[in-house]
Amino acid sequence: MTDAFDVAIVGAGVVGAAIARELARWRLRIVVLEAGGDVGAGTSKANTAILHTGFDAKPGTLESALVRRGHDLLARHAGDAGIPVERLGALLVAWTEDERAGLPGIAARANANGYTAVRDVDAAELYGREPALAPGALAALEIPDESIVCPFTTPLAFATEAVVNGATLVLEAPLTAYISTGEAHVLRTPRGDVRSRWVVNAAGLGADDVDRMFGHARFTVTPRRGELVVFDKLARPLLRHILLAVPTARTKGVLVSPTVFSNVLLGPTAEDVPDKSATESTRAGLDALLRQGRRLLPALAHEEVTAVYVGLRAATEHGDYQIHFDGTQRYVCVGGIRSTGLTASMAIAEHVRDGLRDAGLALEPRDDFRPVRMPAIGEATPRPYCSPELIAADPDYGRIVCHCERVTRREIVDAARAPIPARSLDGLRRRTRALLGRCQGFYCTATVTRLLAEASGRTVAELLGVDE
Ligand SMILES: Cc1cc2nc3c(=O)[nH]c(=O)nc-3n(C[C@H](O)[C@H](O)[C@H](O)COP(=O)(O)OP(=O)(O)OC[C@H]3O[C@@H](n4cnc5c(N)ncnc54)[C@H](O)[C@@H]3O)c2cc1C
Repeated sequence: MTDAFDVAIVGAGVVGAAIARELARWRLRIVVLEAGGDVGAGTSKANTAILHTGFDAKPGTLESALVRRGHDLLARHAGDAGIPVERLGALLVAWTEDERAGLPGIAARANANGYTAVRDVDAAELYGREPALAPGALAALEIPDESIVCPFTTPLAFATEAVVNGATLVLEAPLTAYISTGEAHVLRTPRGDVRSRWVVNAAGLGADDVDRMFGHARFTVTPRRGELVVFDKLARPLLRHILLAVPTARTKGVLVSPTVFSNVLLGPTAEDVPDKSATESTRAGLDALLRQGRRLLPALAHEEVTAVYVGLRAATEHGDYQIHFDGTQRYVCVGGIRSTGLTASMAIAEHVRDGLRDAGLALEPRDDFRPVRMPAIGEATPRPYCSPELIAADPDYGRIVCHCERVTRREIVDAARAPIPARSLDGLRRRTRALLGRCQGFYCTATVTRLLAEASGRTVAELLGVDE
């Protein structure tokens, strides 16, 4: 912790992790400081998990350019890294004459954003493709490249690739203060001081606070709360595409979408809240979502809800990302990455890399970069429990412990021993899907916790966060 690093990245959400991965491809000493106990455990774990094409972004903005590029980068990288992605395509449905009249404008905006594959769909075709849709839809736009992606694996894959290639990850290390010594910044954390020549602020909801620490007052983060509902896997046959609403100036609206785990997701709401930790679901939010869900797909009313969750978008007073380079201060701010950061993450990382180079950071390529492949947790590729080769290599790949999600003993052990290991049950959920299913761990929590404790050398009390 006393060595000087070339670059310190503050925040290990999907954006900080993508930046760490990109910079790890060069001869640089990198440290990532994360306030929480795991990678990707902030907003990055609680979103709608759409790999956007950027068809509806505001043309000419940095966000529009980075979402478009990020979509292509992540779609390509996902195949190599084992990140679950499914190209389902989206149907943006007009329910009123006003909405129908808005469709050509949305298609024109897509073209202005460089995305030209949008096409008109009439009501007959729409109902042919989505028979469970409520009556009354007038027309739709098809956006064939909108995809679903795993929000858990993505930041973990980026961070794992960074760590495997030499980056240092320090968890439970919130940046609390900084001192500039001329040659290097001294970054103060409860885990000790860290010295680094450059600092990249990727602190998500905390990016405005960190920016102020560095003497700037460029934006204020006002969390925009999004509540979501996850339906049981039995609802999955109800739809084939991502069903989008006609967006407004403030939000993309409520969507219904399959997930890469074969559930159905409904949400998100959009409500500005004063508190950066207001991640509780609300009665009003859930009622509104369920009402809208039933209006879109009436059969949803009969489906069971598996879980609800909330994410906070890092919205600011500006209509675009807040990415600023300060060469003399050797500081980069990557803030205001509101509702598209999962998609744009790899493009943001490229943009930060280029900006750092322009600002004076020497980038020397390395020829020993090791790619990683993450465990297969999506439904579109074979899972370990149905892989004869894996089971032959270790029969524990055939011993299911979480029956709802079909997670095996060996996957729990793998997660405990990964380069960035699961250190809690929440971390295990995001690495394996264990405890995420319809019983929400009612059946398997005891077994899974014991297994994780044995494999990780932690006590059950530590994993559960209780006193012995
Ligand atoms: C409801 C909702 C739906 C969304 N849907 C989509 C979608 O479908 N597709 C899409 O592409 N995007 C979507 N997004 C946006 C996407 O989730 C975010 O843009 C992205 O996760 C932001 O990543 P991040 O790394 O900037 O922030 P975070 O994930 O919040 O990471 C920031 C990290 O910084 C850490 N931190 C904060 N302060 C400090 C400090 N002082 N020191 C050290 N660490 C610190 C935090 O602990 C956190 O882990 C959605 C967001 C929401 C809320």
